[in-house]
Amino acid sequence: MPSQWARRWGYVAKDAPTGRCGVTIKFLHTDETGPVSDVTCWRDSWKDFDQCVWHADTDNKPRDDLAEARTEYPERLDGAIIQGNNMGSSISFANCRMNGAELTDANFSMADFSNAMLRYATLDETQFFQTNFSRANLSQATLEKVNLQNADLTHTPL
Ligand SMILES: [Zn+2]
Repeated sequence: MPSQWARRWGYVAKDAPTGRCGVTIKFLHTDETGPVSDVTCWRDSWKDFDQCVWHADTDNKPRDDLAEARTEYPERLDGAIIQGNNMGSSISFANCRMNGAELTDANFSMADFSNAMLRYATLDETQFFQTNFSRANLSQATLEKVNLQNADLTHTPL
């Protein structure tokens, strides 16, 4: 910290107790339901990091650790950092909030991001071959040097 997204709209909550991820995403915008309130992650911290496995600012996190941390339900993963990983379709991010996430230099081919919120996400230099982004929101996301070959962008705002 601070990573790219932290400079953009997040910070580490100073009052987070040891063992909890204090990453707080500050929402500067409103949506159709009104102002979006800030949210603090509060997941268990991971290894020696002060943050959880999603928010620790490091490359090549073990895929198994990420898969284990992912519930089967839609989750708030805003500001998640996944860099350098070959994730493939091992984890479904369908219906998750991933605004401001940094999914860079990675491979998410054939993964499911349907109906995910990826506003302001950084998705540079990542493989999304046959990835499902149907009804995902990629508005204001950066997509430099990505492979979107055969990706499903049906009803996907860019
Ligand atoms: Zn966290």
